[in-house]
Amino acid sequence: MDENCIFCKLANGVFSTNVVYEDDDFTAFLDASPAAEGHTLIVPKKHVANAFELPDDLGAKVYPVVKKVAARQKEVLGCDGVNVLQNNGPAAGQTVFHFHVHVIPRFDGDGVMKDWDHLELSDDKQKEICDKLKF
Ligand code: AMP
Ligand code: ZN
Repeated sequence: MDENCIFCKLANGVFSTNVVYEDDDFTAFLDASPAAEGHTLIVPKKHVANAFELPDDLGAKVYPVVKKVAARQKEVLGCDGVNVLQNNGPAAGQTVFHFHVHVIPRFDGDGVMKDWDHLELSDDKQKEICDKLKF
C-alpha cells in the first residue's frame, strides 16, 4: 500500500466508502463525483499506478469484476448499457494515479458521455500507422 495514495486507503478499508463489491484483489466503490448514478470504480487493493504497470494476473482478473459490476447495474438500475473507461496518464485524463476502471451506467439518450471528434485519415496514413504499431 502507498501511504500517500487515497485509492490504496479506500480499497483496503483504511477509509470507509460506498463499497459495492470486494474480493481478494479488488474493491469496487462508488465514484465520489459521478458521471451518472451508480458510477463505480473498480480498484485493485495493491498499488498499481496505471495499465502500463498492471501485472498480467491482475489484468486477467479485472474484466470478470467489470462484468459483475456492469450486470448488477443493469439488473438493479435498469440501465440500457454501460461505459467501461480506464484512463492512463494525465494526457489521457487520469487524475488519481492508482489504476481504476470506471463502470458508468447509461440510459438511451442520457447524453452522459460525448462522442469524440473522428479523424479522417487516408488509407496510406492508416497503413503507415498500422505498420508502426504492428507487433
Ligand atoms: P480518473 O480521472 O480516471 O483518474 O478518475 C478518478 C475518479 O476518481 C474521478 O471520477 C473522481 O470523481 C474519483 N474520485 C476521486 N477521489 C475520490 C474518492 N475519495 N472517492 C471516490 N471517488 C473519487
Ligand atoms: Zn494506491
